[in-house]
Amino acid sequence: MISVPLLRPNGQEPPPPQVITVVIMGDSILKLDGKTALVFGVASEESIAYAICKSLSSAGCNLVLGFQPRFRSRIQQLLPTLPKNTQIHPIDVNMPDSISDFYKSWQAESPDQKANIVIHAIGFAPREAFDRNLLFVDSDPIDTALRISAHSLQSILRSGLPHLAPASSTITLTYAASTRHVPSYGLMSIAKAALEAWVREIAARLGPDGHRVNAISAGPIKTLAASGIPGFEGILDHVERNSPLRRNIDQMDVAGAATWLASPLSSGVTAQVIHVDGGYSSTMVPEDVNR
Ligand code: NAD
Repeated sequence: MISVPLLRPNGQEPPPPQVITVVIMGDSILKLDGKTALVFGVASEESIAYAICKSLSSAGCNLVLGFQPRFRSRIQQLLPTLPKNTQIHPIDVNMPDSISDFYKSWQAESPDQKANIVIHAIGFAPREAFDRNLLFVDSDPIDTALRISAHSLQSILRSGLPHLAPASSTITLTYAASTRHVPSYGLMSIAKAALEAWVREIAARLGPDGHRVNAISAGPIKTLAASGIPGFEGILDHVERNSPLRRNIDQMDVAGAATWLASPLSSGVTAQVIHVDGGYSSTMVPEDVNR
């Protein structure tokens, strides 16, 4: 606690003694000790969701990971780097019944455990969704990209509703191509626009019961998902030269914001898209336009 005496105005009676009290609180302000986080979207050490796992667990959270079966061996390799009580259960949001199977599997291992935090870091679009002129992409890849990358937020929360703790916080990951054209991001821009609309709509439905839903719009980061985006290196280079912070963000930048959104420190924040992008989204004309 620091006490700061107030200044007296000149020529006036001294006011009664007053202090401004500044309370400096430690990590406990996060209040995440013993909370349970469902985390969907860890595929490798580079995954944004993996950094979020690290940050949430260091703030005291228990982790329950939903992993895509094709990444089973990678997840098993990562498991020793996470807290001992971390659970892993398979989920493929593109397969009927897989989401309810995830909840059954979790509840069988931890009956009646509730989720305080849900991290949705799932994204996928078939290759042709990036390579072809969007006007000529067939409806199958469009359906797949939207089902996995956007509608899965609704599916996961619909099945998860009975297992949410009071005042839960859900966080999903989006990208600025939801609102502005980014060359080569293709169909994912449509999926991210839909995802952000889901955030607003679900937040409006769950808000009266005290649950919060937000999105983090992350700047570009080299991950497995990003490796499928043509010209990604050029985007990284451009953002580094032109964002206000003059650097690319990394997984831990996103994990910090996610941990804040997961905690009561952000208790008044819902239905928002929070940009963690070094400020790039605030710019219009690039700094290097005349170079
Ligand atoms: P990543 O490849 O590590 O994560 C993507 C995850 O989606 C993987 O864990 C994968 O298993 C999961 N997934 C894909 N299809 C699935 C399915 N059918 N069922 C269940 N899970 C499935 O890459 P990442 O960059 O960490 O991506 C996480 C999220 O962040 C994605 O939504 C991505 O669009 C978003 N994002 C990434 C960036 C970036 O530049 N890396 C920027 C903004 C937003």
